[in-house]
Amino acid sequence: MALKLFNTLSRSVQEFAPLAPPKVGMYCCGPTVHDFAHIGNFRTFVFADLVRRWLEFKGHAVTHVMNITDVEDKIIRRVREANTSLRDFTGQYETAFLEDLKTLGCLAPHLLPRATEHIPEIIALIEKLLARGVAYQAADGSIYFSIEKYRGCGCKYGQLVNLNFDGMRAGERVASDEYEKESLADFALWKARVPEDGAVAWPSPWGEGRPGWHIECSAMSIRHLGASFDLHLGGEDLMFPHHEDEIAQSEGATGQPFVRHWMHGAHLLVEGKKMSKSLGNYFTLRDLLAKGFTGREIRYLLLTAHYREQFNFTIEGLQGARAALARIDECLGKLRELTGRDALPRVQLDETARPLPPTLPPPDGERVPDGRERGAAKLISDFTAALDEDLNVSAAWGAVFEWVRETNRLLAASQLSAASAANALGAWARLDSVFGLGTGGSAEAPPELLALLDERQAARKAKDFKRSDAIRDELKAKGWAIEDTPKGPRLKKV
Ligand code: AMP
Ligand code: ZN
Repeated sequence: MALKLFNTLSRSVQEFAPLAPPKVGMYCCGPTVHDFAHIGNFRTFVFADLVRRWLEFKGHAVTHVMNITDVEDKIIRRVREANTSLRDFTGQYETAFLEDLKTLGCLAPHLLPRATEHIPEIIALIEKLLARGVAYQAADGSIYFSIEKYRGCGCKYGQLVNLNFDGMRAGERVASDEYEKESLADFALWKARVPEDGAVAWPSPWGEGRPGWHIECSAMSIRHLGASFDLHLGGEDLMFPHHEDEIAQSEGATGQPFVRHWMHGAHLLVEGKKMSKSLGNYFTLRDLLAKGFTGREIRYLLLTAHYREQFNFTIEGLQGARAALARIDECLGKLRELTGRDALPRVQLDETARPLPPTLPPPDGERVPDGRERGAAKLISDFTAALDEDLNVSAAWGAVFEWVRETNRLLAASQLSAASAANALGAWARLDSVFGLGTGGSAEAPPELLALLDERQAARKAKDFKRSDAIRDELKAKGWAIEDTPKGPRLKKV
């Protein structure tokens, strides 16, 4: 079935058609590493992770690029305040960000380019814009993008948002990286060095200075995905000026259409207001972990809202996420017990998602499934239909909980065979390659360790106690203890 996604460019839901299928080039504006990211920021990154995983589930070969903005106005201010070097300052927050991304079960992007490592590409792009006559140097040595010249060439400024040019005066300039639609003006590509920049400066044909924020993303996305690519994402606040400026710079320099499909995630709100550092109404991931919530619970909560709907964050919402996950985990636990194996496929949070086979083969010696696998097939088809419709997660979760209810009913009535339970778990694993929730509690042991556990069981059965003890010691050395329960052995983190 065709995948339909809302495209901010056309303001409509349309079929996603990459330039060279099955390849998909996907760029998501990454964090500005001036502080710990808050979970509003992470709503956008979990959304990007969902898009990537869904494209992979659909068989696309995605190249996921997420830049690290490690030089811009806010960072320079904070470096000055902290009296440290740019790299020392941004490095700590970059490391924390990547850790948090993992805690939230996001797949690592394939490429994580840093702006400071793309200065030659940035300079080359600005040189092209100057050569094409759509950029100019101001009296202080800074280089600006000329909206008037750009529009004069027949190019459209205002592709993602409707702009009112009436009040705009030619040559009026804005130097800061972030500005409102009302301040529509020529924007900085290269900012000439000023004393407040301290040591943060690079040589350029126009003297020492540093790049503007917008040109960084144009340079890094073109460098890694080409002049035209498939998909660009970010939070809704980035539509203007950041993404509008990215389009103008990129198309102004290359003369080619920049991005085919733009997706913007709505904000995470707190009591009706955008969660943000400046309003002080934010939680970092670490704040929530300290309150006892897990990355898995936070990911689940973020995945319950449609990406184009603003979503109010509450602690009660997180408690609800915990209860919902417990229902799922209980059902999965019972299915595992029924299969008699605790080593069924499970998707680890940081494992690269690959489409899994639709069903698992029945365990050895088991007869053909008894027909109850219809529920598992329905789960996958309803889930697929829902996500194909512009990532309709509400309908997808609806399908999940309907399946949980029906599975619990069949389990209670002893109407599921071990083979059907294995099939159901296979369907869940496939679905979870997209939701990326992994499994709760003690079942989070990696597949290779679960395979060792199976091997130990086999050794014990064969009375090869030397081998079974050696495996127990190996597992112990890796931090896992074997718990012998009446329902068979389990792995428990020590
Ligand atoms: P920044 O680190 O400020 O560049 O932001 C990183 C990402 O978080 C961007 O895509 C922003 O659009 C996004 N973002 C910022 N605040 C929120 C919020 N309250 N809800 C969702 N996304 C946000
Ligand atoms: Zn960007």
